[in-house]
Amino acid sequence: MTDDSPELLATTDRPMARLFEYLRPKRGRLYAASAASVANKILDLAPPLLVAWLVDACVGKPPPWIVDIAGAALAPQIVFVAILTVIVFGLEGFFQWLYNLGFLLLAQDVQHELRLDAYRAMQDRELEFFEEHRLGRTLSMLNDDVNQLERFLNTGLNELIQLFVLIVMASVVIFGIHWQMALVGMAPIPVIIWGSLRFSKALQPRYAAVRRAVGDVASRLENNIAGILVVKSFTAEEYEAGRVAEESDAYRQANRRAIRLSAAFIPMIRMAIALGFAGGLALGGFWVAEGRLTAGELVLFGMMIQRMLWPLTRLGETLDNYQRARASAAKVFSLLDTPSTVKDPVAPTALGAAGTTIRGEVRFDDVRFAYSRGERVLNGLSFTVAPGEMVGIAGPTGAGKSTIVKLLLRLYDVTGGAVRIDGIDVREVTQRDLRCHIALVSQDVYLFHGTIRDNIAYGYVASASPPLAKVEDAAKRAQLHDFIMTLPHGYETLVGERGIKLSGGQRQRLSIARAILKDAPILVLDEATSSVDTETERQIQLSLALLAKGRTAIVIAHRLSTIRHADRILVLKDGAVAEEGHHDDLVARGGTYADLWNVQSGQVTV
Ligand code: ADP
Repeated sequence: MTDDSPELLATTDRPMARLFEYLRPKRGRLYAASAASVANKILDLAPPLLVAWLVDACVGKPPPWIVDIAGAALAPQIVFVAILTVIVFGLEGFFQWLYNLGFLLLAQDVQHELRLDAYRAMQDRELEFFEEHRLGRTLSMLNDDVNQLERFLNTGLNELIQLFVLIVMASVVIFGIHWQMALVGMAPIPVIIWGSLRFSKALQPRYAAVRRAVGDVASRLENNIAGILVVKSFTAEEYEAGRVAEESDAYRQANRRAIRLSAAFIPMIRMAIALGFAGGLALGGFWVAEGRLTAGELVLFGMMIQRMLWPLTRLGETLDNYQRARASAAKVFSLLDTPSTVKDPVAPTALGAAGTTIRGEVRFDDVRFAYSRGERVLNGLSFTVAPGEMVGIAGPTGAGKSTIVKLLLRLYDVTGGAVRIDGIDVREVTQRDLRCHIALVSQDVYLFHGTIRDNIAYGYVASASPPLAKVEDAAKRAQLHDFIMTLPHGYETLVGERGIKLSGGQRQRLSIARAILKDAPILVLDEATSSVDTETERQIQLSLALLAKGRTAIVIAHRLSTIRHADRILVLKDGAVAEEGHHDDLVARGGTYADLWNVQSGQVTV
């Protein structure tokens, strides 16, 4: 199991404060929802008062203000309290509707913005992040963690507000009845709050472990599904099921550790509350007997303490929810807080906007490069590709050919030296400016779910949707048009995840059509013809020759026949140019290139 390099993500201080920053622009709505929540809770505390008034009225001691309104007779007093009850419940329901609506809608807006920001931050990360970070973990940040925050804003925040109001209001009422009895009844509350905080602190690392474990399970599942062909062909199903069982068990164990602690909490709280409640009731009973307290007041006390029972029991869960949200916020904001190591310059030099012409000279100046976990790949690599020239790059596997492409596109930054286009260091221009001038046809062609037409037009710089004629023209030049015409819906046929599947060669040609349509001055082909048969290769060669005309072309080839006709061939070895020249000269020289050629020409008919 590869784990994340910790330096790929920063740690975020005060993650919940960061979450509330998202609420700041919506504070009007937040205050309104909170006010509705407070009003609802206050009204929720009214029934004990109503019952107490009724009891006192029945035993002939109605509160004076009820006598003022309803008169001295019992019947109108009862009717008055009943009407008041209906009004109180009606209003309580109304405020509940208001706060529910308020918090739910706020949560939706925040989760939407947060997910989008996290997605953008993730997308802007340097390529290394994607090569090093496990996909499942990134996905779980964008999905599970954002959803956890949504849940907290849906209900958790409101619970915290209501709990606070409850304790304050209930204290006012109970202390208003009799302060000594209130002290006894509420004595356990500070202990409960203290215990809950301690408890939630103890739970925090356990939940963090649960979050990590769930990410690991997701990574494993994602990895296995993507690699199902390999799994099946090696009949490794049992082995993989075993590995999934291992990860899933680790998740179960992590959850168990959290559950063992959290399950013990509620019974403990209930006991503490029961002690205070029993003490208060006993005291109250004696005082009613002595006439120091009315029966209604004792009822009010009992019901108030009861009212607090459930929310306080849930305090642990509420804090739990808060802790989970905090762990999720820490992860989401760590993604937002780690900028890409490949940054746009503060004052970029203009290379020319998309569609404008540049000369297209590419120069590697004493370039040194090592991947952060690997050995040095390039050791002072220097070469220049003149505008309009086609240069082939050959060399044994692992020589650093693909790395050259990554550096040219600035997917990674050089460790030393510089990569220049038209004499300008690629670090001095924006990534957008740089990449709009380079069309890449790489060995892995990714098809997005959509029509063939959309896939060819992907990244077309001039407008969002180029005319069909242009797409067709590109497909023709990439030798793909005839195939497309055999499809049921022609250019509108769906491809990608849920559409028809294309063969390796067809994908390759589609990717060439993409590059043709992009019409960039610099063309980079990374093993572009590696997965096609020789006949298709010959056809593609033709279209590439047409495409490369008038452009700077860098052709990375494993199959040397691809670059046989290049203006110049660079042979890479040990991270530097070992040989350079025309195909025939290099073969005649009898060096690395000649060795590679001899091996290949024995197998490949050209
Ligand atoms: P080539 O295209 O010539 O086969 P590459 O440029 O792909 O070679 O790779 C050059 C060297 O860099 C290889 O030793 C390879 O293992 C290593 N390498 C490639 N990508 C990474 C990466 N993301 N992290 C670490 N090492 C890498």
